[in-house]
Amino acid sequence: MYQPQLEAMNREQLADLQLERLQATLRRIHAHNPRYVGRLNGLGADDVKSVDDLRQFPFMSKDDLRDAYPFGLTCAPKSDFVRMHMSSGTTGTPVICPHTANDVRQWGEIMARCLTAAGVGPDDVLQITPSFGLFNGGFGFHYGATTLETMIIPIGAGRTKLQLQFMKDLGTTAVAAIASYPLRLMEVAAEIGFDFHNETKLRAGIFGAEIWSEEMRQRIENVMGIQAFDIIGMTESAGVGMGIDCADRSGIHVWEDHYLVEFVDPNGADPVPDGEWGEMVITTLTREGLPLIRFRTRDISKLLSRETCACGRTSLRVERIACRNDDMLKVKGVNFYPKQVESILLRHPEVGNDYLIELDRVGGADRITLHVETENDMDAFLPAKINEELHDLIGLHAEVLLLPLGGLPRPAGKAVRVKDKREHGH
Ligand SMILES: [Zn+2]
Repeated sequence: MYQPQLEAMNREQLADLQLERLQATLRRIHAHNPRYVGRLNGLGADDVKSVDDLRQFPFMSKDDLRDAYPFGLTCAPKSDFVRMHMSSGTTGTPVICPHTANDVRQWGEIMARCLTAAGVGPDDVLQITPSFGLFNGGFGFHYGATTLETMIIPIGAGRTKLQLQFMKDLGTTAVAAIASYPLRLMEVAAEIGFDFHNETKLRAGIFGAEIWSEEMRQRIENVMGIQAFDIIGMTESAGVGMGIDCADRSGIHVWEDHYLVEFVDPNGADPVPDGEWGEMVITTLTREGLPLIRFRTRDISKLLSRETCACGRTSLRVERIACRNDDMLKVKGVNFYPKQVESILLRHPEVGNDYLIELDRVGGADRITLHVETENDMDAFLPAKINEELHDLIGLHAEVLLLPLGGLPRPAGKAVRVKDKREHGH
């Protein structure tokens, strides 16, 4: 652990610390931003006697943050800001998250915890493959590794052959990436006959920003010879690093002394019980530039445990994110999400790592077409098998089209798994 006194704190002490920090956050909002106070219906630190009292506060959505572009809900003097990041992949008005110097320190601290949880320390060589820019990924890993005095290779996105060359020549032991990038690394490695096991010292991969299945994790671990960790966080929360799964693989630890977590009905406001799927709602406890009170992340997960983990950490554990609420697909009244389809496909060893779910409407009826890359695109039995497995899981049939490996386009940046050609989208 990077900070055992905090990461393994007993939960009663933790609750006291959370309350103290929540009150301080509310006082900060009241001291700096009347508009934000209005959003909270005037509620403040005096209304909070325990963290459960947070339930009387209204939710915040991404739209609230967009409407506040650029600095409408920030809670520090502009002269205190030292950098900013912006939410990625959205059209229209972006969300700006400004950081004070303390915010950058906080980010470095939580990222140092994440790296430590992944077994990365001062003697490691960390290759940072997310971009350094408005997207928070590159800098988040940079601050964490800087805090730990880990050697950094700040290569950023793309240039996959150079990435492989550096892994070999510079002795990279850990790689950070958006979750679909290992697939590019593996694909190019196969093309040029690069063997991760023999040619690199890689041990750990830390992947996030996208939703990836357990089956995908196994494939990446096998090919790259690493242990792969799932890291969570978003621009609004400070960036990557809000939590990570530990080596025990029993859920994602969320750094609860910095973030309060609730799960609520994705289509409503009611809390959902521990162990049931819900939308993750977060409240920041130590952020200054843009504190969040009950921010709806759109991420669907569930609370797995509040018990002490085998790794010794006492922070609660949540399930790996199943889907973004916005990514939920609805076909013929049935809800499902891309990760479920990924799990079915990747259980077939001959199926490649890339796939596309296409939705369109034929004769007034929705149709699902799965574009699947495989070693033998003439396989007469595979489409029927996949179709049957899909039907068993979600009760829908799909047309399964086989393509040779490499047959789908490879977009730069985040993977494209769904193409919805229906008139009204979802
Ligand atoms: Zn653990």
